[in-house]
Amino acid sequence: MKVRILRPRFDEEETFTGKTLSLRFSPTAWAKLLFFRDAGETEIGGFGITPPDDLLYIHDFQTVKQQVTCVSVSFDDNAVADFFETRVDQGRKPEQFARIWVHTHPGNCPNPSGTDEETFRRVFGKCQWSIMFIVAQEGKTYARISFNVGPGGQVLIPVEVDYDKPFLAADQPAWIEEYKANIHPEEWRGIQEQSMTPEERAELATGWPEEEIEEFDERAWGFEDPDNPWWWNY
Ligand SMILES: [Zn+2]
Repeated sequence: MKVRILRPRFDEEETFTGKTLSLRFSPTAWAKLLFFRDAGETEIGGFGITPPDDLLYIHDFQTVKQQVTCVSVSFDDNAVADFFETRVDQGRKPEQFARIWVHTHPGNCPNPSGTDEETFRRVFGKCQWSIMFIVAQEGKTYARISFNVGPGGQVLIPVEVDYDKPFLAADQPAWIEEYKANIHPEEWRGIQEQSMTPEERAELATGWPEEEIEEFDERAWGFEDPDNPWWWNY
């Protein structure tokens, strides 16, 4: 497999103005995310969904069934598998729904925790690229894109709500149904997690043990064409 060297553009901060590479939400997706964030006291998590030709434009935010506390999100194994299968069956590519990991922090700090870093590395580290996005209760955001081929690299990118494209109306009744179906608070886990290592917490937090991740690698987390990554257009 031939892998191009990515270093020239992404390690030079001065060439990276953020004008061309930023994470954008449709107003609808942004409203839905904040609705989920504010509906309870816990963290919530999900995936940013994008169109095939604009992989940094989140036009939908989707949750899967998850156990949540005020410090963690644990996706249900089967729910993640279903989420993937459904979208693959719909003809979507993994880079449209399985690259942008979105979650909330109840406090005012959007910076990733040690557990977040471990989760991101374990689950998304084998994807050619991936994004960790966090929004805190008080509105601060954190977005980091990680390039995992060649020498790799990570860079913080700006976040914006993009009003330029047509967007759907809010659908609170459907959001409430999705929230009730998927978000399951679990009181005791926050205490239990205090005594765990970051690795243990990450496994618990993702609900994705090592075997599951390997299975995803084969099935849905496949590499895009490494000779022609989309970000060469930026
Ligand atoms: Zn977090």
